Amino acid sequence: MAVEYRNLMEDFVIQNLDVVMEGAGCCTCDACKSDVAAYTLNHLTPHYVATRQGRLMVKLQSYELQSRADVVAAISEAAMVVGQNPRHGRS
Ligand SMILES: [Zn+2]
Repeated sequence: MAVEYRNLMEDFVIQNLDVVMEGAGCCTCDACKSDVAAYTLNHLTPHYVATRQGRLMVKLQSYELQSRADVVAAISEAAMVVGQNPRHGRS
């Protein structure tokens, strides 16, 4: 039996990343997406779960409802920071 766990916040951030970044007018190249994802995850409380098959999706669905607004707000903030200061310069 392997030790298996993951941070649910990573899934939520990836799921919402594109839409929120586009809505914020942020560049959506891979470099900026990576920066926004990292910034966001550093500012959200991680939510780790043990990933035994089957139970993960149930937890994902119930948890998503209460945390979605927090995740979107955190991505929006990150997109503003990264969008104003992209590593590749303004285009
Ligand atoms: Zn970019």
